[in-house]
Amino acid sequence: MPRPVLSTIHIAALRHNLLVIRQVAAHARVWAIVKANAYGHGIERVFEGLRGADGFGLLDLDEAVRVRQMGWRGPILLLEGVFEQRDLELCSRLNLWHTVHCDEQIHMLATHKTEVPHRVFLKMNSGMNRLGFRPEHYRAAWTRLNALPQVDEISMMTHFSDADGDKGVQHQMQIFNSTVQDLPGERSFCNSAATLRLDELGIDAGDWVRPGIALYGSSPDAPVHTAADWSLQSTMTLSSKIIGIQSLQKGESVGYGSTFVADKSMLIGVVACGYADGYPRHCSTGTPVLVNGVRTQMVGRVSMDMLTVDLTPLQVAGLQFGIGSEITLWGNAKSGAVLSIDEVAKSAGTVGYELMCALAQRVPVLVDDNLAS
Ligand SMILES: *Cc1c(COP(=O)(O)O)cnc(C)c1O
Repeated sequence: MPRPVLSTIHIAALRHNLLVIRQVAAHARVWAIVKANAYGHGIERVFEGLRGADGFGLLDLDEAVRVRQMGWRGPILLLEGVFEQRDLELCSRLNLWHTVHCDEQIHMLATHKTEVPHRVFLKMNSGMNRLGFRPEHYRAAWTRLNALPQVDEISMMTHFSDADGDKGVQHQMQIFNSTVQDLPGERSFCNSAATLRLDELGIDAGDWVRPGIALYGSSPDAPVHTAADWSLQSTMTLSSKIIGIQSLQKGESVGYGSTFVADKSMLIGVVACGYADGYPRHCSTGTPVLVNGVRTQMVGRVSMDMLTVDLTPLQVAGLQFGIGSEITLWGNAKSGAVLSIDEVAKSAGTVGYELMCALAQRVPVLVDDNLAS
């Protein structure tokens, strides 16, 4: 029998989360962002849940090939554009739209031989200072691109650094709008946080929104708002089972480094899941976990293949548990109880994004395509 650790991808939840985005940005088209192998979910696994989007945004050319192989004929956008000249051949062949963020990419296009002109998204650096043309160079870049026979329509995009925080996006929005002003073409600037917070941020959605994390049921501005606050549903469950139980006397410790010492007699459940499965080692005593859908906490250090949970509260409450009991590390328990990945991420000092993306190769994945959500 395989180890009981298991990840489950919930198709109905992906569909639901896409609908949430559609409701808040009713007039925009939606790029479902599936970079990093659909935030660790697996592009092929999420496809059915997200095929209602208007396009797929990603970075790796390999991932674009995979989306085409799934039969997707609609738009695909390379969010970082091409990395070298010959990538443009694939763009021509597979009809990939691509970001243009630097002069070198314009030069590559200018020498590219293609029968069909490319749809491009010209990226502005409006303050994030990662990719894009600075506002003072943007219009000149637009003019050069527009003069190329290799280029079809030019859309305009930028990316916000603080859509999830107090600083907000006003400054970047104003720079973007005043620079693109009268230029013809579609506009795209909202990630998940900006899309969900449109009203609060005082912006419109533009022509295309680019949600990633919200589609995967994690709150972009946790812990200010939880996933439930945004009506988002977990799309990834990490579950396992209890494989051992230990009774501790007061003063005894559990796990490496003896970091947790029992202050009373306790019952400890040993769970088949560790950092080699992608569960963060930075989680320590206090991280929430569900046993048969009932909330308790992790104790001691996470080891490579195991972690330990406090079963005492279940024992005190007279609840049933034992070897083989269901453990929910994040996501949905069979009972319907939910443990948001954001809570676990917070305990590890990180964000839901990182935990999803770090799910280990060795964890088997089940796709739950039950229509009921
Ligand atoms: C990753 C990414 C997004 C999606 O961001 P989320 O915070 O996951 O919604 C949007 N736009 C660009 C350019 C990205 O790289």
